[in-house]
Amino acid sequence: MVNARKATAWVAILCVAQATVLAGCGTTYQVETLDEQAIARANAEIAAERALAAQSGSMDADQKIALYTLVAKRVEPVAEAFCRAETDPGTNCDFALVIDRNPKASANAHQSYVGGQPRLTTTLAFLDKVKSPDELAFVLSHEAGHHIAGHLDKKKTQTALAGVGGALLGALVVMAAASSGRQVNRQTMEQLVGGGAAIGAAGGAIAYSQTYELEADTLGAYIAERAGYDPDAGSRIFARLGVEEGKKPPPGTASFWSTHPSSPERIATVDAVMAKIKAQRASGQEPVPERREE
Ligand SMILES: [Zn+2]
Repeated sequence: MVNARKATAWVAILCVAQATVLAGCGTTYQVETLDEQAIARANAEIAAERALAAQSGSMDADQKIALYTLVAKRVEPVAEAFCRAETDPGTNCDFALVIDRNPKASANAHQSYVGGQPRLTTTLAFLDKVKSPDELAFVLSHEAGHHIAGHLDKKKTQTALAGVGGALLGALVVMAAASSGRQVNRQTMEQLVGGGAAIGAAGGAIAYSQTYELEADTLGAYIAERAGYDPDAGSRIFARLGVEEGKKPPPGTASFWSTHPSSPERIATVDAVMAKIKAQRASGQEPVPERREE
């Protein structure tokens, strides 16, 4: 049997554990705040892009590979220099850019690690979705952004942390029951705390990964622009990706396409970032992403 005092002790322990580990767990870079007008402008871009896409033909396999080779050659050295400038010394910035030729692989691009080296993979099916060098440059730059912002490492930690938060919720339920004079047996308590942990872990991983996509889009815009491409034009690819794609990226990877955040949010984010990049260029500065205050 658990009494109110014991349950309170549980909550206190979980609170301390969560507060200790949650510090410094958000994004490293500033992610844009979007108003309704920004989203409306993005929706107009999506409508225009869909109308255009309905008219144009698609590339054959050779053309797709040629486009990839050309763009990868331009983006890779810029992404590597950007990575070295933005990350701690000792970070592996030697990107490996590869095409996944498995015909069964769904349309997506993702970042992973192979023997500690950051790998940016694009599937053949995804190249079918790409209509311009600007789009492919933006996708590759976005993937490089996941590595530069350390998303895969952060996700691992945060899934565990959110589990602690969920367990805390379970413990609160136990405490409420106990303080209302009800007796809670050990088995019920463990189920509540454990169930809360699982829900917290799942919810936490999803919430964080959405902000990370916008952060990767932000860094992607800086890298693609520096490589000589137009990230505004590049982000139009979001207008043509269907909801059926990107639901299941390979485990242990940070992918380009997922159903959340929504396309208008991502297009509007790139629009807002591009306004900042243009302002920095206009004042004679080399554009650099804004870091969040710790
Ligand atoms: Zn991504």
